[in-house]
Amino acid sequence: MSDAIVEVKHLKKYFQVKNGLLHAVDDVNFVIPKGTTMGLVGESGCGKSTIGRLILRLTEATEGEILFEGQDIRKLNKKDMRQMRQKIQMVFQDPTLSFNPKMNIRDIVCEPLMNFKKIKKSEKDAVCRKLLEMVELPGDFADRYPHNMSGGQRQRVAIARALALEPEIVVLDEATSALDVSVQKTVIELITKLQREKNITFGFICHDIALVQLVAHQVAVMYLGNLVEVLPGKDLDMKAMHPYTRALMGAVFDINMDFSKPIESIESEAPSPLDLPQGCPFQGRCEHCMDICKKENPKLVEVEDGHSVACHLFQKGSK
Ligand code: SF4
Repeated sequence: MSDAIVEVKHLKKYFQVKNGLLHAVDDVNFVIPKGTTMGLVGESGCGKSTIGRLILRLTEATEGEILFEGQDIRKLNKKDMRQMRQKIQMVFQDPTLSFNPKMNIRDIVCEPLMNFKKIKKSEKDAVCRKLLEMVELPGDFADRYPHNMSGGQRQRVAIARALALEPEIVVLDEATSALDVSVQKTVIELITKLQREKNITFGFICHDIALVQLVAHQVAVMYLGNLVEVLPGKDLDMKAMHPYTRALMGAVFDINMDFSKPIESIESEAPSPLDLPQGCPFQGRCEHCMDICKKENPKLVEVEDGHSVACHLFQKGSK
């Protein structure tokens, strides 16, 4: 496996809100190898977007380490962090929120280069055309404005802008979620092509496990601030073990144990993140819940190379 580009250790983010302390991210650990795609999947509000923002330090963590090429970015001062942001870029679900509607595509795509690299105005057109070409858009789109483009085209512009500074990692936060299925597919193909050509690392945050499976080398499943399973994307169908992962996939729970009832969907609502039960946070929705599940939150333990699960069903000594 390639070298780690990002390593997250014991990452926590708690938000003080009116009714208590919200555990958005609770002691999360993972590694993203360079040049690969890590998919982060889970229901809305599970903390996956918060993790994306923590990696870019758009939100400050409560505790833990975020190592980028071995350096803890939480220890960087403002000036050094600004430089570091050239290497770590993010693309959001709705790119128009970060686009100035009065700017044309040339100015939007070249904005990071004007800020960081001080390129000359005369160079902008050629640079923009090259970046548009990279995301398979015609060069004359440089003169357009965001409102003259489709959602898929705007998302390609957002990716072109994120690539302008030649980042090492791009975090896509639900970047394909608002697009039609066929457009989603073309954006996924684009990501795969860019990775092959430029060895870019991608963080792919998405609520759709089927889509994540298409693109991610490694999939991390989150539930209420906890990582509950990490496994190779190619193994999701056959090897996913955690009841929540299986439920997300709408699959039949069958791992040669006596769990005869199929899990077709997740019946009940998740508990409030402000009022989590003691023990496993999934207990109220899990048909395999045991006594120990109500006492101890299971740790993420490796079950085989590259595959870890946080569930008492798979931890030695559980009853
Ligand atoms: Fe279900 Fe217990 Fe596993 Fe939680 S730890 S997912 S409650 S079996």
